[in-house]
Amino acid sequence: MRNLNAIDVLNVWEQGLNRPLLQRTLMLLAAAFPELSPDNIANLSIGTRDACLLLLRERLFGSRLVNNAVCPQCAMRIEWEQNISDLVVNMSDSQIAHQFSLESDDYRLCFRLPNSIDLAEAEGCGNAESALQYLLGRCILSAEHAGAFCNIDQLPESVVQALNQRIEELDLQAEVRINLTCPDCSHNWDMFFDIASFLWVEINEWAERMLQTVHKLARAYGWTEQEILNLSPVRRQLYLGMVGP
Ligand SMILES: [Zn+2]
Repeated sequence: MRNLNAIDVLNVWEQGLNRPLLQRTLMLLAAAFPELSPDNIANLSIGTRDACLLLLRERLFGSRLVNNAVCPQCAMRIEWEQNISDLVVNMSDSQIAHQFSLESDDYRLCFRLPNSIDLAEAEGCGNAESALQYLLGRCILSAEHAGAFCNIDQLPESVVQALNQRIEELDLQAEVRINLTCPDCSHNWDMFFDIASFLWVEINEWAERMLQTVHKLARAYGWTEQEILNLSPVRRQLYLGMVGP
């Protein structure tokens, strides 16, 4: 992993502007993890990919996450705060394997965990249920029933459910939930936290602020965009303070 500077982040932001979130995410990771090929990155399990995104977020903007949520009970807007370290799931070696097996009833499945390519392909399905079926189908590498080859389409619902549950257990980082309590009505609920969309919103806001900074400093001092972006964040901020509103 390498540290991204202001120019790197702005470049990824600009290239990703008109792309779907999934592609933006892969572009960000490709910039931050040059040791991995684009194929490697796209083939990471969603949980491993999200662990990389949390690491990148910490390097870019620190370890404290702050955002708003709306109470589903009374619609009050509340601010929540979380440390990245509290959201990182420690993976055991057995969870980092590329292939897993599942035995359920008389069925034996060999499968892998879903990755970004699977998600992109499943987006084309009409509804959530068929997308999940399609996703699981892609992840099954082989299926046997009572020792004989079995077609994936013939798997009973109970086996498909067992597979879905096993994948969730193995790839815990893919489903991060934050427990929240409403200070007004005391309602308690788990909110799904998606680091990919969270980080892109932050990068977007950061980029807009950075371009305003470039604009102000360029106008005040006559420096080029490159010169301003090459300043350390501390100096940039100090000069910005001297320029005034
Ligand atoms: Zn409430």
